[in-house]
Amino acid sequence: MVEIRLRDSRTKRVVPLEPTAHPGRVAMYVCGPTVYDRAHLGNARPAVVFDVLYRLLRHVYGPDAVTYVRNFTDVDDKINARAAETGRPIAEITEETIGWYLGDMAALGVREPTHMPRATAYIGQMIAMIAALIAKGHAYAADGHVLFSVASYPDYGQLSGRSVDDMIAGARVEVAPYKRDPMDFVLWKPSTDDLPGWDSPWGRGRPGWHIECSAMAHELLGESFDIHGGGNDLMFPHHENEIAQSCCAHPEGKFARIWMHNEMLQVEGKKMSKSLGNFFTVRDLLDQGIPGEVIRFVFLSTHYSKPMDWTQEKAVEAAARLFRYVQNIADYADLDTAMDLAPEQTVLDALKDDLNTHEALKALGDMDGAADAAKLARNLVFLGFFTETTLRARVDDYKKGVQMLAALERRLSLLRDDAMQSKDFTAVDQLKARLTLAHVSVQMTKAGVRLRPEMDFDPAKLEGLL
Ligand SMILES: [Zn+2]
Repeated sequence: MVEIRLRDSRTKRVVPLEPTAHPGRVAMYVCGPTVYDRAHLGNARPAVVFDVLYRLLRHVYGPDAVTYVRNFTDVDDKINARAAETGRPIAEITEETIGWYLGDMAALGVREPTHMPRATAYIGQMIAMIAALIAKGHAYAADGHVLFSVASYPDYGQLSGRSVDDMIAGARVEVAPYKRDPMDFVLWKPSTDDLPGWDSPWGRGRPGWHIECSAMAHELLGESFDIHGGGNDLMFPHHENEIAQSCCAHPEGKFARIWMHNEMLQVEGKKMSKSLGNFFTVRDLLDQGIPGEVIRFVFLSTHYSKPMDWTQEKAVEAAARLFRYVQNIADYADLDTAMDLAPEQTVLDALKDDLNTHEALKALGDMDGAADAAKLARNLVFLGFFTETTLRARVDDYKKGVQMLAALERRLSLLRDDAMQSKDFTAVDQLKARLTLAHVSVQMTKAGVRLRPEMDFDPAKLEGLL
């Protein structure tokens, strides 16, 4: 068996995945969204990237041997601000946003992780971890706050490979009177009565952001686990701080063995931003009629470690490829036997090579013609573009459409014969217009009438023509 090799951002080396923390099991933690608004397109990238890894791990180790945790940050000052702006209760906002997120990610073919912990359900574990850090001399309470003492952890900066001086210069480090050192970061902060808060040994307050991932990862995965993922914008300070907290609270553990970071997303070569007017959410694209599998295809066409440039052109190209695939499967594959096939070795080998999704898509592209149609179906499902159910529905729709076209070919042919006699082509032209509207190409030659479904073929628009 070819082993899975992944690039570890900490050592900057491609290393074999050797799950040792829990024999025979693989555990992965990925930082999830802060839930106050719709996921923008960039937020979806880590969800899709690590979903592909999750699928690969489930295939290699068995579905029951993989634990994947992706959290929801449901306590955060951005959420508090949104509640204050809108006058809506926090719980209503976070509940609604979590529902949106899960719906949007499902549309992109993202499987739900094993655990999706919400930070507010783990406040007790966070308080316990903070208390342990104080007891071990890695944190101190001051003015209702608890701060992590960066100077107490000499390995700080190991992930981003930066010196503390560089970090101070590069980041907007908040100077505050209660901090012993400007680099120290908040583990706990006081809450006024109008803000969410929990009782703690340091008074009523709420956790800092970083501590939640350390506490939830420890509770659900233990002191050591295999893979920690997230966007590379989280590397500093978030992940650096997670390492410091977890390794100081549990020095006997290793926390995460392999760190994986996906690069950011751009739109037509530019950073996505509200001020440039190129900012959109996953839902915006879905509502424009761009199917989730097309978005997924565009995402996976670029390796996760490279910036992903979302372009209209790529979306059109992806839609055309997926349409050809469905067409090929509808024409030649028996889906019942197709789903019994194993995923193709070329696809697996590409993914095992540091999740080379670009190569995996190339391998899909090589599955051409009648002989490979069943393989194609199986691998499209394995890679998450469709579920077996959605692929079946797509293929059935297509086949039904093709049957209707066969009947419409005969109809059009008869209408043409009549029109030749009467010299009145109105009925022929009307039918042709309706067919064009349904994205059907119409060829009328001496040999006969030929109707072919084209991309965006919409059989629903043929209703009533027969
Ligand atoms: Zn995190």
